[in-house]
Amino acid sequence: VFFEVNYGLILSLQAKSMRTQKNRLSSFSQALKTDALCLRPENEQELLEYLKHEHPKSLIARGAGLSYNDSCLNHQGHVIDTSRFNHLIEFNPDSGLLICQGNVTLRDLFLIHPQFTPFVMPGTIHATIAGCIAHDIHGKNNHLAASFGQHILWIELLVHNHIIRCSREAHTDLFHATIAGAGLTGIITRVALCLNQSSHCVQTDNHSFESLQTLIEYMSCDGINNDYQVAWIDLSHTAPRAIVSVANHTKRVLHKVEHALTIPKLPFRAIYPWMMKWFNDAYFKRKRKNQEVHLELFNNPLDGIRHWNRLYGSKGLIQFQAVFDTSCAVGIIEHLITLMKLHKVTPILSVLKLFTKAGMGYLSFCTPGTTLAIDFVNNQAAQNAIKAMNAYLTEIKGRVYLAKDFLLRPEQFKLMYQNHEQFEEVLQKYQCCMHSDFSQRLGITSL
Ligand SMILES: Cc1cc2nc3c(=O)[nH]c(=O)nc-3n(C[C@H](O)[C@H](O)[C@H](O)COP(=O)(O)OP(=O)(O)OC[C@H]3O[C@@H](n4cnc5c(N)ncnc54)[C@H](O)[C@@H]3O)c2cc1C
Repeated sequence: VFFEVNYGLILSLQAKSMRTQKNRLSSFSQALKTDALCLRPENEQELLEYLKHEHPKSLIARGAGLSYNDSCLNHQGHVIDTSRFNHLIEFNPDSGLLICQGNVTLRDLFLIHPQFTPFVMPGTIHATIAGCIAHDIHGKNNHLAASFGQHILWIELLVHNHIIRCSREAHTDLFHATIAGAGLTGIITRVALCLNQSSHCVQTDNHSFESLQTLIEYMSCDGINNDYQVAWIDLSHTAPRAIVSVANHTKRVLHKVEHALTIPKLPFRAIYPWMMKWFNDAYFKRKRKNQEVHLELFNNPLDGIRHWNRLYGSKGLIQFQAVFDTSCAVGIIEHLITLMKLHKVTPILSVLKLFTKAGMGYLSFCTPGTTLAIDFVNNQAAQNAIKAMNAYLTEIKGRVYLAKDFLLRPEQFKLMYQNHEQFEEVLQKYQCCMHSDFSQRLGITSL
């Protein structure tokens, strides 16, 4: 009893002395920068004690800060740096069930077992488990594995100053709101998730296409017979051309890939549209080897260059990503190209994937359809082009990916995400009090 009383007292004193530090934060795009009061609790108990004593008016959790949008930013508010919540707790190789803290990264999951991989991986393995839940992220295998939330068994969530465990069986509404909930239901402390029993090695294959029609047909009929598929498109070419890379797990054991290059902070921009035209020409002409590689190398080629976003200079980059009806995909992509030309912007990198399965969160992005992501140098012309593309997507009942966008307006968001009312009802029911620049911009919360 003596020990418990003193331990409680120490935690409470520790929590009270936890200092906030004013920091300028950005997201991966580097396009938005806001000042926030940051806190880095050492453990869950310290955070719990802090929230029992202090009642910050405006609070959001931050993972690895790899979203392109404003969901991990909170101008003049509090931001919880969850980087200390990075412990693997328990793994059962018979069931593939892992229990871990929210800030464990996808990269950490590769360290657990040579025969297990995450079911769903985004384009970067530095994202955290909580961050992947908060945007219900998708990979190159939606046709097999759906999106991230599908593989979550339960989530422990710090709401106000108590922890709620939600799942498909308990607090179901809170579970569906937390998946793709952009951190607005509470702070994810622990998670139980299933890993995929498969080797870390994949056999790759590549196919070139000179027309959008044949590309979409291939991806819908043949491509989905592979474990993974993704198309790299050159939208700046007179007739859009594409390369589809597919991959399938093999039995070989391969070791982790180490990063070769880190881009330093640059006082200038090192990416120009003319350069990308030259790069694309070389890329599309190159003869590709089909080879057995580590899944990371296939799935996350950009992770090979650390901080590649710095190549875009101080104003950063901006990405458009949306999902739309596959049966009209060719016409829609052609219209998007027209809008880009009208606004005189050149796409730097464009990627196309196919979804066949919907996400289970109220605000999940995934729905059956074709998804196109396009990177631009961030400037006024690119922002205007994206605003026009967002308006077009609203008109054709498509959906813009919230993890990538920071230009969508509240009325467009409501039309694209029809379960937003259920989401907001859950926030009210559990008196969730989280707030971010994202929730303010989309009219989900206000101060
Ligand atoms: C190079 C690159 C490629 C990408 N490719 C893809 C892709 O293929 N598919 C895809 O779907 N996405 C992709 N993304 C987007 C990225 O996967 C998501 O934005 C993901 O959410 C980032 O995770 P994070 O840990 O950095 O979270 P942050 O960016 O730090 O935060 C994102 C959200 O998670 C919430 N959050 C973080 N930690 C917690 C917590 N402990 N409790 C509650 N909420 C929390 C935050 O409040 C915020 O709302 C890519 C991003 C990059 C940089």
